Amino acid sequence: MFVQKCRKCSKNFRWTTIVTSLLKGLGHPIECLNCNTKYYMKMVYRVIITVLIPLPILFHNFLYEIFKSYSSLFYIIWIFIIIVLFPFFVRYDTKEI
Ligand SMILES: [Zn+2]
Repeated sequence: MFVQKCRKCSKNFRWTTIVTSLLKGLGHPIECLNCNTKYYMKMVYRVIITVLIPLPILFHNFLYEIFKSYSSLFYIIWIFIIIVLFPFFVRYDTKEI
């Protein structure tokens, strides 16, 4: 599990660079801090995160059964975990989608 490297200069992307771009929006490109090459999130990862983030809403009743009034806290933790871990899974491509 590692953060992607730049294809041109092999410098690792920073975790903070990816998280910042996630918060700005999925279509937001990231730039290699070393050689300024622009990267765009691959479509499959855009789909994955778009499905993962609202997922607990679909299981709202089930979560409420388990966590009761803490179910919204669970949702916040869920989003937090996704944002923390996603930079290790996500892959970017130099081609714009
Ligand atoms: Zn680079």
